[in-house]
Amino acid sequence: MPELLPLFRAYPRLAEKIPYESFPMLPSPAHRLNGLSSEAAAELYIKCDDAIGARYGGNKVRKLGFLLASARKDGVDTVLTFGAAGSNHALATAIYAREMGLRSISMMVPQPVAHSVRKNLLRGLAAGVEFHHYGGLSAVAMGTALVFAGRAARMAGFPRVIPTGGSSPVGILGFVNAAFELRDQVEAAIVPLPDAIYVASGTMGSAIGLLLGTQLAGLRIRIESVRVTAGKFTSMERGRQLFAGTNQLLHEAEPDIPLLQFPEERFTIREGFLGPQYALYTEEGMAAVRLAKALDHVTLEGTYTGKAMACLLDDARTGKLAGKRALFWNTYNSVDFADEIADLNYHNLPEAFHRYFEEEVQPLDR
Ligand SMILES: *Cc1c(COP(=O)(O)O)cnc(C)c1O
Repeated sequence: MPELLPLFRAYPRLAEKIPYESFPMLPSPAHRLNGLSSEAAAELYIKCDDAIGARYGGNKVRKLGFLLASARKDGVDTVLTFGAAGSNHALATAIYAREMGLRSISMMVPQPVAHSVRKNLLRGLAAGVEFHHYGGLSAVAMGTALVFAGRAARMAGFPRVIPTGGSSPVGILGFVNAAFELRDQVEAAIVPLPDAIYVASGTMGSAIGLLLGTQLAGLRIRIESVRVTAGKFTSMERGRQLFAGTNQLLHEAEPDIPLLQFPEERFTIREGFLGPQYALYTEEGMAAVRLAKALDHVTLEGTYTGKAMACLLDDARTGKLAGKRALFWNTYNSVDFADEIADLNYHNLPEAFHRYFEEEVQPLDR
């Protein structure tokens, strides 16, 4: 029997109402970033979600523990999800769906070419994912998806649609639990209570789960949600909706959990680190990637975590963290899967994906 999730320990009745699969390897480690702390003259810590899955890590694994459990409980045999071509979320979904005997379909939109996109596509191929590539417009995307879902419904039972990034209220529970997990680690003196958490914000589920979770767990922590995607995925309006929706889900399952006001003073969307567009690497982001590697042996990347770390380091350098403690939430996978893709050929992917292997990678990824 795996240990009970901290969220379920805090609210035992939730465990009876909310399905959960315990493949995420939790708690994730947390520790001080000694090198970066000296470099930036600040007290910096890290929460290491990078290896929380045996086959693939990163923040999506926390969400999938709830999302896939819910799919299984409802008896579906296929999950359908969305992402950019190199999506870590789509890949994590494919890998853990397969482990649970579920089929998975990924609907993908274009993104700039990078080595990580190639690797993720091949790993998806190894996981047996059914890939579809389509143009960028969200209306078109939704239409395509629903048509496809309808077709799949007639073929093999209706698939469970998991939104981009896994950021539905059910998925966000993974990050509500993460806040309770952090509280345990603070109480055990593994890390001190941080004043702020810095987290890359794509579809906002990680940041909003941490915001709601820290409020419920009684932790006074600011969430610095660093924008890495354009408007529609990261916005205050969306943040409020996700917060309320997840709070409502918890309240319905356990009336002892109060319905909270959105804590404006504890939450900021940080602008200025995205660069020209999603998944296009920036000079500051890549400098942060190199520094984290050199000083603390932490592996970050250019789409999400490098940009979030650039924000944290900028705050440290401009004195905003003077006398404060900051915790960087590492949301990126560090499980090596080179062996699984060594013998795979991209020609086995649908043709629309071949360009990711035939065009040169973006300049800052060379
Ligand atoms: C998806 C992802 C994020 C963003 O998480 P959201 O919950 O969608 O905001 C951050 N970092 C990495 C590495 C990711 O793959």
